[in-house]
Amino acid sequence: MSAQILDGKAMSESLRKEIAAGVESLRECTGVVPGLAVILAGNDPASEIYVRNKGNGCRETGMYSVTVKLPGDVTQETLEAEIDRLNGDERIHGILVQLPLPEHLDEARALARILPEKDVDGFHLLNAGRLMTGGDGVIPCTPRGALHMIRQTGMDLNGKEAVVIGRSNIVGKPMAMLLLRENCTVTVCHSRTKDLPSVTRRADILVSAVGKPGFVTADMVKPGAVVIDVGISRVDGKVRGDVDFDGVKEVAGWITPVPGGVGRMTITMLLQNTLEAAKKAARK
Ligand code: NAD
Repeated sequence: MSAQILDGKAMSESLRKEIAAGVESLRECTGVVPGLAVILAGNDPASEIYVRNKGNGCRETGMYSVTVKLPGDVTQETLEAEIDRLNGDERIHGILVQLPLPEHLDEARALARILPEKDVDGFHLLNAGRLMTGGDGVIPCTPRGALHMIRQTGMDLNGKEAVVIGRSNIVGKPMAMLLLRENCTVTVCHSRTKDLPSVTRRADILVSAVGKPGFVTADMVKPGAVVIDVGISRVDGKVRGDVDFDGVKEVAGWITPVPGGVGRMTITMLLQNTLEAAKKAARK
């Protein structure tokens, strides 16, 4: 039997309508219009596309957005001065530094400079710590989007076996923390994991965030599992996920496509985080 498709495009469209309604009602009640600033250093073509899509998402939902373009050879001091300026700008509720930064810049220092309440990517140490300790912090967009998709299956997550492949700070680790918060039994796998298929075959929920096209094959998947493909790779100009979609869809119960899966949800969750940051600012 073929798996049900978790359609990121459709889910995003419906969420964006709700976000747009939230933006409108916040504006009516308080006069506050949520604002997102994206800092782009250099001219990496993929980053430019992401930044454009973020601006489009803001326009679509009625938010204010600015893009701060800095030259590829910008100094750390200038980058941090821009972050400080946006930290102090009342029209801006979310600040995002588009990654990766040019190599000479210190990413961790730049991210730490963003006020935690404006850190809509959820990468600030304070927000990472809050996620770890169960506090009310900003949740990174990609894992938040992935969890939303998992919830759409209607599955009771309590006590389910969840396996996350990948342990990065932006996807794998926060994903694992979110699933733990949902009372799943969570295993995190990585490049040194031994006999990966024997671990992944236990998963009721399998999230792959590796970046190797076709890495997850049908024999690695438990029948009926929810398979969430976070991976994005380019092969011959086409976007591919980590999961061998055609093979795995014959075994899984639910599956996300690439494109049209988690990637679509990431920017939507960024908009959601920005709206929530603006609501908190309006309450102050
Ligand atoms: P990363 O390179 O930081 O992490 C990759 C992880 O994969 C590492 O933890 C590594 O241990 C693990 N890994 C590598 N080889 C492995 C193997 N053979 N077996 C098991 N684990 C292995 O990457 P990242 O930033 O976490 O991103 C992962 C993927 O997700 C990339 O393809 C990236 O483009 C994509 N991504 C997608 C979105 C989205 O919006 N859909 C957002 C962020 C990242």
